[in-house]
Amino acid sequence: MPDALLPFLLIGPVLLLLVGGIIGILVREQRRRLQQEREKHLLLEQQNERLEQQVQQRTADLQQSLDHLQATQRQLIQSEKLASLGELTAGVAHEIQNPLNFVLNFSEVSVELVQELKEEVLHQLPATTVAPAAELLQNLEDNLQRITQHGQRAGGIVQGMLLHARTSASERQPTNLNALTDQFLRLAYQGMRAKDKTFNVTIETHFALGMDPVSVAPQDIGRVLLNLFNNALYALRKRQQSQEPGYQPLLQVSTTECRDGQVEVRVRDNGPGIAAAVLDKIFQPFFTTKPTGEGSGLGLSISYDIVTQGHGGQLLCQTHEGVYTEFIVRLPA
Ligand code: ADP
Repeated sequence: MPDALLPFLLIGPVLLLLVGGIIGILVREQRRRLQQEREKHLLLEQQNERLEQQVQQRTADLQQSLDHLQATQRQLIQSEKLASLGELTAGVAHEIQNPLNFVLNFSEVSVELVQELKEEVLHQLPATTVAPAAELLQNLEDNLQRITQHGQRAGGIVQGMLLHARTSASERQPTNLNALTDQFLRLAYQGMRAKDKTFNVTIETHFALGMDPVSVAPQDIGRVLLNLFNNALYALRKRQQSQEPGYQPLLQVSTTECRDGQVEVRVRDNGPGIAAAVLDKIFQPFFTTKPTGEGSGLGLSISYDIVTQGHGGQLLCQTHEGVYTEFIVRLPA
C-alpha cells in the first residue's frame, strides 16, 4: 500500500469516532431536553391542579356567601312582612273594637229587655199564648246570651291583636332569666294539668349556672315563654292522644349564655313536629292549625314581635316532622 494512503486510513476511524462522539452528545442533549420538558410538564400539571383546587375552594366560599346572603335577605323580607302585618293587625283591631262594643252592649241590654218581657208582659197574655210566647222568649234570650259569649271571645282576640301595638312600650329591667323561665314553665304545666289530669309529661330543665341578669321586659318575655310552653304541651298532648306505642312525651327547656354575648332559651318537645308548608306560616297573625276555640293564631306572631322588635332578639324554630320541635329565643344580654 502506498504511504500516501496511510493518513486517509487513519483519518477514517478518527472521523468515525468524532461523528460517534457528536451523535452521542446530541442524543444526550436530546434526552436532557426531553427530561426538562417532562419536568416542566409535571410542574405545570401540579400548578394546574393547585389552581383548580383554589378555584373550587373559592367557588365553594362564594356559594356559601351567596347562600348566607340569600338567607339573610329572606329573613329581612320575612321580618318586614311580619312587621307590616303586625301594624295592620293592630289597626284592624282598633277598628273592630268599636262595633264589637256595640254588639256586646246591645246584646246585654236585649237580654235584660227579654227578662223584663218575661216578668212583666208574659202573664198579661191570654192563657193559650203564654206557653209558646214563653218558649220564644227563652229562645231569644239563649240566642242573645250566645251573641254575648261569642262577642266576648272576639273581644279577647281583639285584645290579643292590640298587644301587637304595645310590644315596644314595656319597660325593661335586669331580670333573672332562669327564674322567669322556671316560673312560666310551672304556670304552663299547672294550666295544662288543670285541663287534663291524665296528661303526664317528663320535663327536663338545664339552666345555665351563674347567669347574669338580662335586661328584658319580664312580663313580655314571660308571655313569650308561656306561649311556647303552652304550644309545646299542646303538641305533646296531641301526640300522646294518638296512642303511638312506646311514646313518652318529653319537654326540654334550657338556658345558655352564648359566646357572642347573647342569651338563649330553648324549648324543645318531641311532639308531632311541624310540616314544612305549615312552618312558613307559624309566625303570621291568625295562623293556627288548632280547632276553633282552641287557638287564635296570635301567640307566635305576638311573641315574634316582642322578641324581635321589642328586644332586638331572634325567635327561631327548628323542627323535624314526627320527631321534634324546638323554639329558640335569642336575646342580646
Ligand atoms: P295558636 O297556638 O293559637 O294556634 P300560635 O301562633 O301560638 O297560635 O301557633 C301557630 C301554630 O304554630 C299552631 O297552630 C301550630 O300549628 C304551630 N305550632 C306552634 N308551636 C308548635 C309546636 N310546639 N309543635 C307543633 N306545632 C306548633
